[in-house]
Amino acid sequence: MPNKHFCQGPFCHTKLTQDRFLKSKGIIRGRYALNTIDSDTDWCKRAKYLCSTRCEMDWLDENMLAVEMRIPVPFITHRRISEGYEKGKNRWGGSCIKKIGGATE
Ligand SMILES: [Zn+2]
Repeated sequence: MPNKHFCQGPFCHTKLTQDRFLKSKGIIRGRYALNTIDSDTDWCKRAKYLCSTRCEMDWLDENMLAVEMRIPVPFITHRRISEGYEKGKNRWGGSCIKKIGGATE
């Protein structure tokens, strides 16, 4: 296991990207954070906890009310997955990942 936290993005494990897709199991997996746990840069500390700007925005949207209310936000310590996906073709003939039995996006 890499020396990284799992991405804290609340929906990271639902984004349909090739790098999250594990074809042999038909699952979408949450990513690791961008930077390692022991990285010591001051300019982007959030990269130790999140994989992308999209997940940063999702985290803020999902959790800021809890922060304001002083409610602890759970720290994600395991790799989350979404099941039931397969590789398919989009409407232009390119490859995409889609829910099994569902329409392509
Ligand atoms: Zn993420």
